[in-house]
Amino acid sequence: MQKINYVVTYMGNYPCGGYHPLIVKTEATGVESAISAAQNAIEDDRIKATDLTLLSVVPETCPPSTEDVNGNGELKPCPFCGNPHVSLVETLRELDGENTYFVNCGCCNASQLPDSKERAVHDWNQREEAQ
Ligand SMILES: [Zn+2]
Repeated sequence: MQKINYVVTYMGNYPCGGYHPLIVKTEATGVESAISAAQNAIEDDRIKATDLTLLSVVPETCPPSTEDVNGNGELKPCPFCGNPHVSLVETLRELDGENTYFVNCGCCNASQLPDSKERAVHDWNQREEAQ
């Protein structure tokens, strides 16, 4: 798998008494490795925030669409520009920490709300039919 940039966001208590987000950008092959890379970065940097809580992990930019990601034809071409090489992007839902997915077109950057893998694929394909 190719590495892409992830934005890992934590909430933490700061010495000034504030409760702020802490954002770590890291290059990783997936959500799990992004989290461990971010955790290493936090320890290395001696960040003063304490009680850090993981809030979200999202790709900074969607990975470029290639034939590989949709090789089995599970996803229909982009309903907006017709690009057949759309990507299924993994992310982490802030609400409950569930791994969720959305489909992204690397050509026109069309996207959708993250959901379960099955629903993301289903909704994307429904969308094409609705046109
Ligand atoms: Zn498109």
